[in-house]
Amino acid sequence: MSLNFNVNRLVRSNVAKLQPYSSARDEFKDFDQDMVFLDANENPFENGVNRYPDPQQRNLKSVLADQKNVDTNQILLGNGSDEVLDLIFRAFCEPKEDGIITLPPTYGMYKVLAETNDIENKEVLLTSDFEPDVNAILQTANEKSKLLFLCSPNNPTANSFSASKIERLLNEFDGIVVIDEAYIDFSPNESWAIKLNQYPNLIVTQTLSKAYGLAGIRLGICFASAEIISVLNKIKPPYNVNELTQQRALKRVTDLDSIKKEVETILQERIKIEKSLSQIPFVKKIYPSDANFILAKVDDANTRYQQLLNKGIVVRNRSTQPLCEETLRFTVGTEKENNSLITALKALI
Ligand SMILES: *Cc1c(COP(=O)(O)O)cnc(C)c1O
Repeated sequence: MSLNFNVNRLVRSNVAKLQPYSSARDEFKDFDQDMVFLDANENPFENGVNRYPDPQQRNLKSVLADQKNVDTNQILLGNGSDEVLDLIFRAFCEPKEDGIITLPPTYGMYKVLAETNDIENKEVLLTSDFEPDVNAILQTANEKSKLLFLCSPNNPTANSFSASKIERLLNEFDGIVVIDEAYIDFSPNESWAIKLNQYPNLIVTQTLSKAYGLAGIRLGICFASAEIISVLNKIKPPYNVNELTQQRALKRVTDLDSIKKEVETILQERIKIEKSLSQIPFVKKIYPSDANFILAKVDDANTRYQQLLNKGIVVRNRSTQPLCEETLRFTVGTEKENNSLITALKALI
């Protein structure tokens, strides 16, 4: 990215101008048990959650900052990555005017968010080996292209994109590059968050929904320059991460050992499923995975999907996605669940 990158050039003018809502808990930050808090119209009777949560989630951010080697002001937390992604749209994309670039086959939310926010979505297909087509992307981009979404490891193709391709896009795309790392903890690659100081146009999103096993609490993480984070902070709902979520997330992120063990088990199980799939004659291709799921091409995806369903096993049919004709996506489950899948597949031979 050019050294004269200026975030303010990309921010919507109404967002640049707006004065954020100042919550009671923002105005008086230094929470101290001995203070008498009569400022937020809360019910004073203690039940553990009668007070508004910390709008800046400082305890959780300080642990994450240490672990991820970033500053706390380079982190924004949201109600799942979905909220984080929506905030990015609303900060940078002027409805009916600006555009984004996405690379199908990929995560469906970018498109839905573009439609919700009335933003043009230019789609540039991945190449046949599921890599970004860098030249085509740069040719498609114009002065209205504010955001480029790279999902790596990519859902549903399961591969990570080549680092040199991502680097070229970071250097040459003239807007913000959002790298969605929902599956990074299953991958041998390092997070791009370590390159934040090198690329002022980089946003990295992660989530506690996959490797961390907390899909139910909704906690999404955004890493970016302090400048980008302060723009997103202006428009985020003040109490977007509730108290129960903050407590539960803090407990989990301070127990990295159990997360690591679960991830290792999932990766071993993934190898086991891959081996079994390779012995099933109607499985035509197994794509390499850096994630907790496997994409496989079968002879007839609709039929195989329905047959598995009849045996009580729900997988995802990804055949409607471009480049994914006749594919099924298998999430790695527990050992028992995976054995049921393998038994069911073998019975269909
Ligand atoms: C599952 C997934 C997410 C997670 O979204 P949350 O809202 O944090 O649960 C984000 N991006 C991709 C590509 C995913 O597959």
